[in-house]
Order: sequence, then structure tokens, then C-alpha cells
Amino acid sequence: MSEKCDFGLIGLAVMGENLALNVESRGYSVAVYNRTTEKTDAFIAGRAAGKKFVGCHTLEDLVKSLKTPRKVMMLVKAGPAVDAIIESLLPLMDKGDIIIDGGNTLYSDTERRTKYVEEKGLLYSGTGVSGGEEGALKGPSLMPGGSEAAWPELKEIFQSIAAKVGPNDDIPCCEWVGPRGAGHYVKMVHNGIEYGDMQMICEAYFLLKHGIGLTNEELYDVFAEWNKGELQSYLIEITRDIFSVKDEKTGDFLVDKVLDRAGAKGTGKWMSQLALDLGVPSTLVTTAVYARSLSAVKEARVRASKVLSGPTETYSGDKQEFINHVRDALYASKIMSYAQGFVQLQAAAAEHDWPLNYGDCALLWRGGCIIRAQFLDRIKEAFDADANLENLLLAPYFTDAVKKAEAGWRNVVATAATLGIPAPAFAGALAYYDGYRRANLPANLLQAQRDYFGAHTFQRTDEEGTFHAEWLKLR
Ligand code: NAP
Repeated sequence: MSEKCDFGLIGLAVMGENLALNVESRGYSVAVYNRTTEKTDAFIAGRAAGKKFVGCHTLEDLVKSLKTPRKVMMLVKAGPAVDAIIESLLPLMDKGDIIIDGGNTLYSDTERRTKYVEEKGLLYSGTGVSGGEEGALKGPSLMPGGSEAAWPELKEIFQSIAAKVGPNDDIPCCEWVGPRGAGHYVKMVHNGIEYGDMQMICEAYFLLKHGIGLTNEELYDVFAEWNKGELQSYLIEITRDIFSVKDEKTGDFLVDKVLDRAGAKGTGKWMSQLALDLGVPSTLVTTAVYARSLSAVKEARVRASKVLSGPTETYSGDKQEFINHVRDALYASKIMSYAQGFVQLQAAAAEHDWPLNYGDCALLWRGGCIIRAQFLDRIKEAFDADANLENLLLAPYFTDAVKKAEAGWRNVVATAATLGIPAPAFAGALAYYDGYRRANLPANLLQAQRDYFGAHTFQRTDEEGTFHAEWLKLR
């Protein structure tokens, strides 16, 4: 191909290959580069054969083969590799050219890199890409941030490759998120919410399996039913399907052969750490991260299971009623998780001066990504009705939804405790709800303790100012 290409892509692992194919399928020509040149050659000779691709063995060739302003997207392992590639690209590119990082990068790295690249006269976009390899190929959710001047140049290509939603399937799950690291922050919160959703679905499964003894066939039916209602989502759908899959080796259900030890790649941990830094209670993602940590100590749990006592009975009430209560617990807990996620986004936006549009954030996750769900339309509506909504729980739709689910949710948390079945996310979500809805909390006693032993002072309910008491003398 002698004509210059519309788009450049660095990194031909699963995400890069698929995203490059997606871009090309929308009518753009794409130049590709991978550090290991054999991968570039294999791609050009294989999946890219006969398509508008140019394979490049050096970054110089990649840059030379692009139309200006050049758009080069990195889909490589997050971390030092990204800095190294930026350093190599900078001397090759011109003012106004755009470097894009589509990896799972920590937002603070993107804050730093945006400033650095802009100082060199180029533009930078930290873009969250969600939806895994299938999303990358068929339509991901894209969360672009970084240099604002890059957005008009990227908009057409990004919106054409993104997943589409809406009645006519024409609303792209891709909109400008905000400056510097905003796109990667929103992607991280998306991943943290995904952690929470998965943990809560696992708790529902465990309660139905061990509380009322449902079989995999029955679990399939329950999740199929749930997927027709307010819980309709990609994660409920794939969970339903998991309960129908048989192991090729044994003929048993495959889910029962999978070892109960979960891994993690780190975005949930980042969100938890950043919530602690901001002082916002994102308890659900943290609970989900800890649940994975507890699952990871399998050998210790097996040893403890032989020593530690707990209830052994199962649920004696009406089975269908319990299934409905678990559905309510799942839905209410999910609302808490999203409420917390948006509160964290609001706090981060205030700290970093990002003018985030929260309704758009919900829309970006409406298609293409792992947490895609009908429910996100309600969140968009809530923020469209009140852009400064303090907490999703205060939007009338969600206030009412929690009210309807509340009795079942409380019953499930109480039953889980009675039966000794761990449900940390359901219980933690309820504790958050009960804490948030109370005008008074026991922090008065806490402040008294702090003042007693450390003269940390306190404020009074009946007078302005800062006070200290000689608690011992006043006794
Ligand atoms: P990956 O396994 O994270 O990274 C492999 C790619 O990075 C290869 O192309 C590799 O080149 C390149 N690379 C690594 N170190 C490099 C260096 N120092 N210099 C140049 N290139 C280097 O690939 P991935 O799973 O496709 O993910 C790409 C990015 O998207 C990551 O940030 C990931 O977190 C993010 N992401 C992944 C998913 C997913 O479902 N996999 C979903 C969303 C986002 P070589 O072939 O030469 O080793």
C-alpha cells in the first residue's frame, strides 16, 4: 500500500490485533508494529491478509507510514513499556501528532505522561478500553481522556469502532471523558465495579447452592429468569450459561471442577487504595478484593475447615421466596456498589479538576464492556435529571428500588449469618446503606475516645468551635 495510513497501532497481542482489525473493518487503513517482529509478520500474513494493513518492523517505519496528524495507539503491557515507547516515538513525531495509550494504565501515570507529551508539543490520550478481546474486535467501550485537543481528531475513528447502544443501535459507547488521567480513572472505576458485580453474583450463587441446595440446572433457570428483569446484564447472562457447561473429560459440570482460588490483575486494588486516599467509602470493591485474597489461601482454608466450628443446617423456609430475596439482595447491593463508584468518581473529579459528566460515564459502560447492563440507563437518567446528584441512592428511581428490595435483602443477610454462609458484599452493602441513611452515627463516642486519650479535640452539636475536655477530671 503506497498511500499513508489513517491509524497506527503498537502491540499485537490479543487486544492490539483485535482492535486493529476493528479499526480496519470500519474503512480505515492501519499501520501496525510489534516489538517482536515475527508477530507483526504473522499477523500481516494471517488475520490481516488482503486487508488495508501495513506491517512495520521499526517505529520509524510506523510513523513514516501515517497521515498527519498521526494517531498512534499503544496496546502494550502497562507500566515501563509505555514510557519506553513514548520516549522512542517523541523524536519521530511532529507537533500536533497524537500518542494514545489504550492499556490498563494507572491514572496517575497518564496524568504525568499527558503533561510530559504536551510539553514536547504533541498530544496524548489515555483511553480506557473495555470489553476484552471480543469487545476490541467487535465494539469496545472506550473511555478517552488526555489532551482535549486530541479528541476532535480521534472522535470519528473511536466512535466508529465503539459498541453502539440505544433503540437504533447508533449511540456509541465512547465519549470524551476529561483531561489528563480522567479516562483511565473512569476505566479503573469500571473495573472496580466489575469486581463488585462478580463478587455479589458469586454470593448469590453460594447462598442458593448451600442455603437451599439448588442444582446447577436449577441455578441456570434462576439466572435465566433474573436476566429477564432488572438484573439483566452480561454478567448474569454468562453466569447462567456457565451453569450449563459440562466438562469434556468427566461429563460433570465444569464449574464444579474449577478450583475456588481467584486471581486479580490489580485494577480493583488500585480503586480501593485510591478510595482510601480520597477518604470515600468504596466498601464494595474493597470487599471484593479481600474476598479474592481469602479465596487465594485455599490450603489454609482447607486446614481451618477441619478445626473451626459453624452452623451446619440449611434454610428451612420457602425456597422460591428465598430465591426472590436473594435476587433483591443482589439488586440492592448492586445499587450500593454503583452509588459508591460514582461517589468516588465525584471525589476524584473534584481533587483533579476533571469536569466529568457522570451520565455519559454510565452510557459508556452501557455496551461493549463486562458490566454492560440495562440498569446503566437508569443511572444515566438519574444524572441527566440532576448532574450534581450527591449519591445515586437519592435519585427517586433508586430510592424506590432499594425500598422495594430492602426486606428481602435484610432477610438474606440475616440468613447468611444464621447459616454461616459468607456474604461479605451483601452484608457490607447493607451496612453502608444503614450507615448512609442515618443522621447520627456513633462517631460522637469515637471522637470522645480520641479526645480522651490523645487530646484530638471534638466539635459540639450545640455550639460552634473546637473543644477539648479533661475527661478524667470530669468523671
Ligand atoms: P499484554 O499481554 O498486556 O502485553 C503484550 C504486548 O505488549 C505485546 O505486544 C508485547 O510485545 C508488548 N510489550 C510488552 N513489553 C514491551 C516493551 N517493553 N516494549 C514494547 N512492547 C512491549 O497484551 P494484551 O492482553 O493485549 O493487553 C494490552 C493492554 O490492554 C494492557 O495494558 C492490558 O492491561 C489492557 N487490556 C487488556 C484486556 C484483556 O482482556 N486482555 C482488556 C482491557 C485492557 P512482544 O510481543 O514483543 O512481547
